[in-house]
Amino acid sequence: MSLRIVVCVKYVPDATGDRHFAEDLTVDRDDVDGLLSELDEYAVEQALQIADEADEAEITVLTIGPEDAKDALRKALSMGADKAVHVEDDDLHGTDAVGTSLVLAKAVEHIGYDLIVCGMASTDGGMGVLPAMLAERLGLPQVTLLSEVSVEDGKVTGRRDGDAASEQLEAALPAVVSVTDQSGEARYPSFKGIMAAKKKPVESLDLSDLGIEADEVGLEGAWTAVDEATERPARTAGTVVTDEGEGAKQLAEFLAGQKFI
Ligand SMILES: Cc1cc2nc3c(=O)[nH]c(=O)nc-3n(C[C@H](O)[C@H](O)[C@H](O)COP(=O)(O)OP(=O)(O)OC[C@H]3O[C@@H](n4cnc5c(N)ncnc54)[C@H](O)[C@@H]3O)c2cc1C
Repeated sequence: MSLRIVVCVKYVPDATGDRHFAEDLTVDRDDVDGLLSELDEYAVEQALQIADEADEAEITVLTIGPEDAKDALRKALSMGADKAVHVEDDDLHGTDAVGTSLVLAKAVEHIGYDLIVCGMASTDGGMGVLPAMLAERLGLPQVTLLSEVSVEDGKVTGRRDGDAASEQLEAALPAVVSVTDQSGEARYPSFKGIMAAKKKPVESLDLSDLGIEADEVGLEGAWTAVDEATERPARTAGTVVTDEGEGAKQLAEFLAGQKFI
């Protein structure tokens, strides 16, 4: 039977761009270019390698995001995923992590799954909470932050590296995994891959397709609220320490003064 892999990929504002909050203190996503979160490229790569090892497999990439989030899906399709699902709805504006996990869970159920692969964190929100929330909502085992992952005999196994030790983990499928940026370089899409991606199916869904009410998501349904935001102060010239024999001492004093050491 075909191994059904769903990879959750996020379309994020380009971190090199000038990012702002909108009036309602949500991220102004119209004001900045976006792209497939780099950390999710590792998730796509690991899914492709697992699919290569399986007798038969199908990879669906899934995103929740605005119209332009299709760019992230196209990139994942050009890397080699088979099809894509895009959840877009005006009522998603302001959805927090709890709401996002609800939508992802419903979308994953709609697609059908044996293995769900996530990145370790998004490059914008960066909370790293979605894989655990998704596993909880679906009642699945979670094997997170893997730097090595494989699937065999109905089980997913992997290695999680900590500061002091590495753990070897396994779970019976279906399961949720997240992979780190140490799991192996993500491939670049080939020209053939880019051309093929144009013909691959992208299914568009809204909240009603997933049976989700508007007040379960969006700013209204969010469990977190942003009360205030302040512009980052402009860069100042900084302190120059000229070493005339006392440089190391001055540097240490400066760092201690800033409570870095
Ligand atoms: C249109 C839109 C508007 C939003 N507005 C707000 C807002 O105003 N305030 C707010 O707090 N949050 C908002 N969010 C939610 C927020 O951007 C995050 O998606 C969510 O809070 C998850 O947190 P994170 O980015 O830290 O994900 P992490 O937990 O760091 O992500 C881990 C992994 O989960 C998966 N993942 C995360 N997000 C998505 C996604 N959108 N689609 C597919 N896979 C994903 C990826 O595999 C990722 O690597 C909005 C989201 C969308 C789509």
